[in-house]
Amino acid sequence: MTPPPGQDPGQDPGQDPDRDPGRDPYRAARARLLDEVAAEAAETAAWTGRPAFSDAVMAALAAVPRHRFVLPGDEAAAYVNRPLPIGHGQTISQPYIVALMTDLLDLTPRSRVLEVGTGCGYQTAVLAALAGEVYSVEVVADLARDAAARLAGLGVGNARLRHGDGFAGWPEAAPFDAIIVTAAPDHFPPALEDQLAAPGRMVLPVGRAYDRQVLYVVARDGAGHLRRAATLPVAFVPMVPGR
Ligand code: SAH
Repeated sequence: MTPPPGQDPGQDPGQDPDRDPGRDPYRAARARLLDEVAAEAAETAAWTGRPAFSDAVMAALAAVPRHRFVLPGDEAAAYVNRPLPIGHGQTISQPYIVALMTDLLDLTPRSRVLEVGTGCGYQTAVLAALAGEVYSVEVVADLARDAAARLAGLGVGNARLRHGDGFAGWPEAAPFDAIIVTAAPDHFPPALEDQLAAPGRMVLPVGRAYDRQVLYVVARDGAGHLRRAATLPVAFVPMVPGR
């Protein structure tokens, strides 16, 4: 994932319009999106317990160029607060949901995070902006490969990607301070709960495919006890077992 020296486009704002506010064509749309995410956080506070997301989470949302993660031709829609197709029957999550799930993880710059369901890598980039190390597993090989190339091109150096079945987690790198699952399993995956540090937090949607799903926060305390708390109803693509 570490780009070759001298190839990080983030080093020279003059070379990358994404990093030059004066030439950023998405600046106004991105600012509007941040306002909408903040408004939706306030509206959903009764379910989530988070009336406002942290400054760090909002800054990460502002910094990651979402238009670089959508399909060619969809760039203009990248800063609308909704999911978009990314091919392979999968989606890039809605920005509000990305912000909410990230906020619920309570990350610090030292956190080691496991993500299940890399997709296009957008959530991965948001996590990498906030945490120390990100490990991300994707079951569709093409998506895993494209996401790795995209993140390397954006100069994201602290994320490791793997093609595999997220139901197994990433045992060699466990335990994780935080785990985020961005596809919906129909039960709490035991391997993922096992790989959660004490203390640690996991955020995941649970429910049947295309049916009622609920976003849960699974918190393990310092003594190792797990507590599962439901937040709000959500709609995610199903988490499918790897072959
Ligand atoms: N994190 C993404 C959302 C991706 S959609 C974002 O930033 O927008 C969910 C992803 O989970 C899809 O790419 C899907 O292929 C993947 N997925 C489904 N089942 C999986 C499994 N068992 N292991 C790993 N990834 C899985």
